Amino acid sequence: MAPIATQDVPLLIAQLSEKSGLDENNIREKMTQKIEKFSGLLTEQGALVLLSKELNVTLPLFEKPHQTLTLNELKMGMNNIDVKVRAKYVDKLKTYTKNGKEGKYLSTRLTDDTGEALFTFWNEQAEEALQKGLRAGSTLNLTNARVGSFNNQTQLSLGYNGTYTIENTENETIENSTRTNSTNARTRTGEFSTLKENGFVETDAHIVDVLPGKGYYVRCLSCQGKLQKRETTCPICMAEGKIEARLLASVIVDDGTQPIRAVAFENEVCSLYGKNKEELLSVFEMDKGSADKEIVGKIIHVAGKGKMGMDKTSIELMISRVNPVPFANA
Ligand SMILES: [Zn+2]
Repeated sequence: MAPIATQDVPLLIAQLSEKSGLDENNIREKMTQKIEKFSGLLTEQGALVLLSKELNVTLPLFEKPHQTLTLNELKMGMNNIDVKVRAKYVDKLKTYTKNGKEGKYLSTRLTDDTGEALFTFWNEQAEEALQKGLRAGSTLNLTNARVGSFNNQTQLSLGYNGTYTIENTENETIENSTRTNSTNARTRTGEFSTLKENGFVETDAHIVDVLPGKGYYVRCLSCQGKLQKRETTCPICMAEGKIEARLLASVIVDDGTQPIRAVAFENEVCSLYGKNKEELLSVFEMDKGSADKEIVGKIIHVAGKGKMGMDKTSIELMISRVNPVPFANA
């Protein structure tokens, strides 16, 4: 804390008076008593610190200065940091057990123009944040945060006097964003939780997970046979040059009502990953895991039909169209 200049004493007395309801003379008397009690070794500022603690009042001048920073400015060990960020991904509420007691936590990934950070809400705060409407796309204001790291990623946590606020201005965000070439991207029809077989849904959703898979399958256009790999001659019908790789992605998406398994093909897979087909085929062969990681948390605008899943009980989404949802700042 920066030392407080002597000329601030009258100001501090005025602030303490205002915040505590005691009049200024009364405060000066109490200060004198404190100073006498400490045999005159206590300064006036020191007396004010003690008094403000006794009265349970935080004086503005004694508050530690906050710093509002962007995510790329954060460094390990920083304290009293304020950030204004967006939740890029909000996980499900999960439980943990510590010393035989069960607690809850909610992991989030935050982003702004400049970088990303992990942030976890613990216990009551985790449930409270959800009640306050926290979801992917929410704006979060964190104050008095601390900077740490987890798995080599920046992790923020709230100090004991930390606070957070949640703002949901989804419509505004979408309006402000540049989406002139996707005319009906804001259309919303139906929701995942009520999607029926052959029913239609169109909504914003975030990608929760990418299910394991190669990212494509290979088939022969001549005999329709499914093949193991891309080659020039079909091993089934011996046709030449009829073999095609088709992109296929299986993801879990959540529109806020329910996570649902969704399947995308070809162009829609390209939209999911934001890459063209040739790029994707080579990326999938080299390092599909990293490509998958990059799209988790992404918000998309998705349209499709309900289809009975393999388990014959749950409805899956056959994606017919997907557009990325650009953020105002993205
Ligand atoms: Zn064939």
